[in-house]
Amino acid sequence: MPSVVDPEIAPIPRSRLRAWFACPEPGCEDQHYSLSEIVYQCRHCGGLLQVEHDPVPLADVPAATWKRIFEHRFMGTLWPYGSGVWGKREWINPMVEDENIVSFFEGGTNLFWAERLGRELGIPELWIKQCGNTHTGSFKDLGMTVLVSQVKQMLAEGAPIRAVACASTGDTSAALAAYCAWAQIPAVVFLPRNKISIAQLIQLTRSGSRGRKR
Ligand SMILES: [Zn+2]
Repeated sequence: MPSVVDPEIAPIPRSRLRAWFACPEPGCEDQHYSLSEIVYQCRHCGGLLQVEHDPVPLADVPAATWKRIFEHRFMGTLWPYGSGVWGKREWINPMVEDENIVSFFEGGTNLFWAERLGRELGIPELWIKQCGNTHTGSFKDLGMTVLVSQVKQMLAEGAPIRAVACASTGDTSAALAAYCAWAQIPAVVFLPRNKISIAQLIQLTRSGSRGRKR
């Protein structure tokens, strides 16, 4: 797939952009890890990591320009920018190459006018964002596209990853199974024994992931 060079679509060369895992805890300011590193928590304090971006190149583009570009990309067919997630790629994860993005063009779910509920609550204009109205029925698609794309990127870089695993009976497992199936990466889901409905099980086994009773 050709990379987009049109400044109206991609205003900054991705080679200028950087993001990394950081630990937000006091005393861990030096705890930075590559997004391609297999790391689950801060190696200093054990805390959860968060993604940080280098704001300098992002700030080179005025906010109004970003807004125009995001609107231009939104729900279009230009790979991968039509996705509600990857349409904001530079602000999400700029480190993944085009060919490693695993996307179902997730996001862009509509707002429903909840007229009856609004009347009950005394709110005449109540609109609800229904993120579960997606390919897998799971709002976790929005994060999973980033996770599985990053894993595919790491595999391309030679990381020794045999599978992606999660413990979940619902949204996470459904999204993980679907995105891994698309990327041809084995998915393993850990499930509580006898505490899952057939409907929940179908959500993930239909995409070929393996369940493990525990
Ligand atoms: Zn830490």
